[in-house]
Amino acid sequence: MRIANVAGRAVIVLDHGFIDVHESSKGRFPSQAAPLLARLAELHDWLERDQPATTSSLGPHDVAQLTQLGPVVDAPSQVFAVGLNYRTHAAEMGLTPPGQPMIFTKFASSLAGARATFALPSAHVDWEAELVVVIGRGGRDIAPTEALDAVAGYCVGQDLSDRDLQMAGSPPQFSLGKSHRNFAPVGPWITTVDEVGDPQDLRIQCTVNGTMFQDSSTQDMVFSVREIIAYLSRVCELRPGDLIFTGTPHGVGQGLHPPAFLHSGDEVVTTIGGLGTLRNRAE
Ligand code: ZN
Repeated sequence: MRIANVAGRAVIVLDHGFIDVHESSKGRFPSQAAPLLARLAELHDWLERDQPATTSSLGPHDVAQLTQLGPVVDAPSQVFAVGLNYRTHAAEMGLTPPGQPMIFTKFASSLAGARATFALPSAHVDWEAELVVVIGRGGRDIAPTEALDAVAGYCVGQDLSDRDLQMAGSPPQFSLGKSHRNFAPVGPWITTVDEVGDPQDLRIQCTVNGTMFQDSSTQDMVFSVREIIAYLSRVCELRPGDLIFTGTPHGVGQGLHPPAFLHSGDEVVTTIGGLGTLRNRAE
């Protein structure tokens, strides 16, 4: 199942059109994604059994182009992010991979849809393609072997980063420099776990103005999705709709020789195999 946010309403995207979940279910299901994600099995049964009619004829290709496409979850209770979680990225930043997951947040007000534009608050704004985990059932003290049962699905994320603000202090603090308006595009929709297969075997790519800068696999993560969920849930209760940015592979602008950053008008295209594409332009 693919669940998108079109103009603030949760929709199921089918090949031949989409279904407004709240409207088509006559109010049985909520219009917001977060509470819906705790009831995925029920939603799936309803879809199979009732075969609700589509409320729009727009299929996946058209939905992905919609400027009204919002972040996959409008107001998650928590947004986690993992720093330096690919060995090759840690190396390009001149750092050794951390011994435990390095956690920061992208504040929820930075979330944006798959076609959002973003302003450049400094001359050193960088790109980071990331696999984003969307929590379903959630919980506390989740064992690695059961971690994927807590997950609703996955989407593509872009962890835009203002390196000036990120590195301004000593020690550096990551969260604010990664939380400017629209610095956290997520989408184009949630693909539910049953349709994704192994989250540690997904191709992840980022181009800027058509030039490929990042092209890796989630196989290279230092801490797997299962390990990250187990680690976080030992401290924080994971709740339906929470998001986890799982880190970026090598090929960010900061790691180039010489470093390169985004300019006004640049288009950042972020793709994960099977999950879709984000297209975000710098204003
Ligand atoms: Zn990142």
